[in-house]
Amino acid sequence: MLILVSNDDGVQAEGVRALAGAMRKLGDVVVIAPDREQSAAGHSLTLSRPLRCQGLGDGWYGVDGTPTDCIALGVMGILKRRPDLVVAGINLGLNLGDDITYSGTVSAAFEGTLLGIPSFAVSLEPGDPWRFDAAAEFALVLARMIVERGLPPDTLLNVNVPNRPLSEIRRVSLTRQGRRIYSETVVEKVDPRGKTYYWIGGAEPTWDRSGDTDVEAVMAGEISVTPLHLDLTNHGALRGLRDWTFPLGQSA
Ligand code: MN
Repeated sequence: MLILVSNDDGVQAEGVRALAGAMRKLGDVVVIAPDREQSAAGHSLTLSRPLRCQGLGDGWYGVDGTPTDCIALGVMGILKRRPDLVVAGINLGLNLGDDITYSGTVSAAFEGTLLGIPSFAVSLEPGDPWRFDAAAEFALVLARMIVERGLPPDTLLNVNVPNRPLSEIRRVSLTRQGRRIYSETVVEKVDPRGKTYYWIGGAEPTWDRSGDTDVEAVMAGEISVTPLHLDLTNHGALRGLRDWTFPLGQSA
């Protein structure tokens, strides 16, 4: 077994250490992760400059790129053999609902899936202290299950874990993506030189609290497992738009 581990919080982050430690019980582990924080990098791929990869010893590498770069570089460049599993995390913060396309952690797992390798992402609810043990333990359980049973085609699993000891986690729930209620989250301020700047974020997200969603599960103290796929097509809308005829050549 060869397991490729990455994250978006950077190779020095505590979460990736906890994840790599758990995965080592299953097989050989190589960690290829951004050399600095790349949270909210989404599925960004670096094409405009070369990528540098620094070996840190013991199968650890830091890349001056995005999480997606790390997986692509690992699978197609650095690793001598193809990994059996790609695992991303443990992210410092949840990756729920509408927010997952921003997530570098989830995108690393997306990239693994695109390359045909079973992949999942693990994210942890913020807390003081961060309790990585339950997330790491569950990641190992899930990895073993995936190795044994495989995943459906073109599917990755997005896992979110409440910040509490394993003994206090109520259960594991299969969920769907929740919906974020968008609110004012851009802060406008003036810098020391008198120029206006903007900062995105700051406000706590609020969520549509209906249904069997990832949000609901984590709020109820459960581990949420959401199967995701790369097909962003809205199939219902595709049917609904079928009677649109596009009048090409009539714009004048
Ligand atoms: Mn992150």
